[in-house]
Amino acid sequence: MTEQELKETLRDRGLRVTPQRIVIHRALAHLGRHATAEEVLERVEQQLPNASLPTVYAALELFEDLGIARRVAAGGGATLWDPRSRPHHHLVCSSCGRVEDLDVEVDMEGALRAARRHGFSPDGSELVVTGVCERCQTPSHGPDAHQSR
Ligand SMILES: [Zn+2]
Ligand SMILES: [Zn+2]
Repeated sequence: MTEQELKETLRDRGLRVTPQRIVIHRALAHLGRHATAEEVLERVEQQLPNASLPTVYAALELFEDLGIARRVAAGGGATLWDPRSRPHHHLVCSSCGRVEDLDVEVDMEGALRAARRHGFSPDGSELVVTGVCERCQTPSHGPDAHQSR
């Protein structure tokens, strides 16, 4: 989503266009996919000297409500935020913790039907494929060589 679209979305919902919201949105987009709130905060500190982790969380949660960002359901570790709002699946490396997008069409209807049978009211489903990423399978680039967190 562009900055202009963000402004329009905020205005459409009767929300204020604040520098925090704009800068945090830009930071998330620039960080690429799957950033933690801490990484977003580090990135905005220069421009928003008064920003704190709760400020960042509040903005990210707002973006989630607005459908601009998603919380990655990758399990384990810190919550990751994804500026890609369209539902998609993920690959999670159990060795280095890397989370990558997995673009594949999967029919999740069976899972949703089963959820409904449990009396659950589902609003989405995502697939997480766990395993070991390509880099971690290469001895010279083992987990120690690119530990990200
Ligand atoms: Zn890995
Ligand atoms: Zn993703």
